[in-house]
Amino acid sequence: MKDQFGRDITYLRLSVTDRCNLRCRYCMPEEGVCKLTHNDMLTEDEMIMAVEAAASLGITKLRITGGEPLVKKNIVSICTRACAVPGITETAITTNGILLPELAKPLREAGIQRINLSLDTLDAEKYSRITRRGELTEALAGFRAALDAGFEKIKINAVLIGGFNDDEVRPLAELTKQYPIDVRFIELMPMYDSGDFGEEAFISCDSVLEQLPEAEAQGADGGVAKLYRLPGALGNVGLISPVSSHFCGSCNRIRLTADGRIKPCLHSDDEIRIKGMSKDEMTETLKQAIFEKPKWHGEMSYAERTHTHRDMNQIGG
Ligand code: SAM
Ligand code: SF4
Repeated sequence: MKDQFGRDITYLRLSVTDRCNLRCRYCMPEEGVCKLTHNDMLTEDEMIMAVEAAASLGITKLRITGGEPLVKKNIVSICTRACAVPGITETAITTNGILLPELAKPLREAGIQRINLSLDTLDAEKYSRITRRGELTEALAGFRAALDAGFEKIKINAVLIGGFNDDEVRPLAELTKQYPIDVRFIELMPMYDSGDFGEEAFISCDSVLEQLPEAEAQGADGGVAKLYRLPGALGNVGLISPVSSHFCGSCNRIRLTADGRIKPCLHSDDEIRIKGMSKDEMTETLKQAIFEKPKWHGEMSYAERTHTHRDMNQIGG
């Protein structure tokens, strides 16, 4: 359905947990999260009802996210049921990949078509530093498992961080020459509490192009990324610039948090609770939330931080 500004809302990002097996410095605090009890969280049945309600309003694309979705015990069952909801034609998951060696195949068999893997660096020491506890070898094993499982599309997401991985733009981008994947650079967003990074860490996606002068523009991907291709590459390099050039005018998405709140805009504090509702009530509430989706998220920069009081692990990216 269309919102009050005429945007066709077709994309739901469903966060199945706010917990994670990593602690990326830009995403969540070192001590992790333990605020939500099981009673606060959407049950599996409620998640599926919400997907059905969303599909009845014209949502066709579903992304499962988190926290880390693969730490959720019933993730394969959630994906199997969510992918089977009539009207849902595009399915994807975003993961840090650590648990993919055991879960890539079951997720593919559950009906997940596409996978986004977060990988900010190819350097083992830097990987452990940015994730506070991860091992690069585990993430790379997850990447190989995703390749073997036969997903329709694999995208690597790297958050661009000045002074951390801006010297790795080329090696990350050149993964597209080795593998049939897209590599996307995402501008660092100034989230609520995970502010390990100051203004100097923000660099715009334009700096990627300066480092890859041979990259040729491919146009947009129908999503939020601007696409480029290195000569001879098997996939694209994508640039996602939520800070330097927001894409609110063409935003087609809504989010549902693991504690059952609809977030019509990532950076707004507006939330509507659907936990505990019947499917009909969820449908009505979603309809209103979609219609009233904010026009844009307001000014955002490292000076003017996000307006949401959640960190990214509590929203789902
Ligand atoms: N745990 C999964 C993962 O890391 O892919 C899924 C959830 S994570 C919150 C989703 C995406 O948000 C990841 O690609 C992550 O890099 C990105 N992200 C988290 N915090 C961010 C921030 N402050 N700025 C930009 N991207 C961020
Ligand atoms: Fe966990 Fe993903 Fe956040 Fe990293 S970005 S802490 S992997 S939820």
